[in-house]
Amino acid sequence: MPCKTNSELETFLKKAKHYTKMGKVADYIPALSKANRDDLSIAIYFPDGKYVSAGNVKEKITLQSISKVLTLALALIQRGEELVFSKVGYEPTGDPFNSIVKLEMSKPSKPLNPMINAGALAVTHMIKGNSVEERFTSILSFIQLLTGNKEIHYSKEVAQSEFETSHLNRSLCYFMKQHGIIDENVEELLDLYTKQCAIEVDCLDLARIGIVFALGGIDPVTKKRIMPAHVARLCKTFMVTCGMYNASGEFAVRVGIPAKSGVSGGILGAVPNRFGIGISGPALDDKGNSVAGVKLLEMLAEKYSLSMF
Ligand code: GLU
Repeated sequence: MPCKTNSELETFLKKAKHYTKMGKVADYIPALSKANRDDLSIAIYFPDGKYVSAGNVKEKITLQSISKVLTLALALIQRGEELVFSKVGYEPTGDPFNSIVKLEMSKPSKPLNPMINAGALAVTHMIKGNSVEERFTSILSFIQLLTGNKEIHYSKEVAQSEFETSHLNRSLCYFMKQHGIIDENVEELLDLYTKQCAIEVDCLDLARIGIVFALGGIDPVTKKRIMPAHVARLCKTFMVTCGMYNASGEFAVRVGIPAKSGVSGGILGAVPNRFGIGISGPALDDKGNSVAGVKLLEMLAEKYSLSMF
């Protein structure tokens, strides 16, 4: 068992913190540029419901791309595998998260996987409800259930900031509308998607989500099933193959756990049957992953043999 005490985890955090200087905070969504580059915090959740943490654990970040794996789980629960994968594929792209290139090249024209923006937008399109509000409530309630935290909400400022500057995501939506992947009002879909990305969590919330995936869909505290085991397995598989953008291959070699990162600097990790890991560290490397967060995971993986391979 790694790091049974906060002070043990603190030692790793101190070492990794130096790497924050090598990264840059995301600024293509203007509101994200206000984050502090030097922040770094981590929490590890255990199957018995206990946890350890280090750094300023209360620091909130928005989910951004981490939300993609959560809406995937929800869409699979609501719509089933057949429908979901009629609109989005299974394959990694090796391209940046917002790339449009392969969308046109793939035949039939559907996003290659649910972790790139096009695929995530197609997945969000499938979330059930009669209005954006109803669909957002369904996403938010699911995340509150996963984290066991009813206080979770979204940042209006970050959602608005992304909504106003989502030119590329708008173009992905229009392309998909043309090809019959989505058939709703694009502004409404973007409204829902930007709210989902702006849901605020801390690293403890992320670690709690991670342990639910690690335990195949079971809540570590209530012991209740939150999602079917096959949904948790499917999500973890996508986390391995495309969870860390186009650095997923290197991450699988160096760390070897299912993980999903977001441009706010969050990382959600699930070590099957062992732990959930949540990291918040806004300084990003050139692929969009938390630079110090990845270093921290590399150190932990080496010390405690986390790799599942
Ligand atoms: N909201 C962001 C976008 O769609 C999420 C990107 C990310 O975290 O990778 O551009």
